[in-house]
Amino acid sequence: MIGSSMLIQKVYYKIMKIITYPNEILRKKAQEIDNFSDIQKIIPEFKKTMLEHDGIGLAAPQIGKSIKMIAIQTKEGPKIFINPKIISKSFKKEIAEEGCLSLPKIFGKVKRAYKVAVKFQNEKGIHYKITVKGLYARVLQHEIDHLDGILFIDKIIK
Ligand SMILES: [Zn+2]
Repeated sequence: MIGSSMLIQKVYYKIMKIITYPNEILRKKAQEIDNFSDIQKIIPEFKKTMLEHDGIGLAAPQIGKSIKMIAIQTKEGPKIFINPKIISKSFKKEIAEEGCLSLPKIFGKVKRAYKVAVKFQNEKGIHYKITVKGLYARVLQHEIDHLDGILFIDKIIK
């Protein structure tokens, strides 16, 4: 049974390579997802990749896929957002330090909305809307920016 246990281990540990700046895919506008069966096979690896790299968020362009999918680490575990869109932002802003798995060793202060409302679909295509604040709101804004080809270095406060 050595063969099958090795296979399980390989599947379990499979993680994706993180694309780093200045790879041009990080600057592309990601495509809307309408085929939900296509993404099913990459979702477990995508979540795992975020966790293995100690990320609190990951956007699909960072694994070389220019599609509108992000993962966020929440209290309940990794959560997938498909076609996420910010529908409102609070007037209140907050400044905090950010980093990014695609920009290793670079950190900087970024001003973001304290609270955001986001509409999205889950991995099955069901539509949702959530309102979040603080770090959760910050990570969502950072990851949604990735889908528009925007990086946090574009927003660093000097
Ligand atoms: Zn990032």
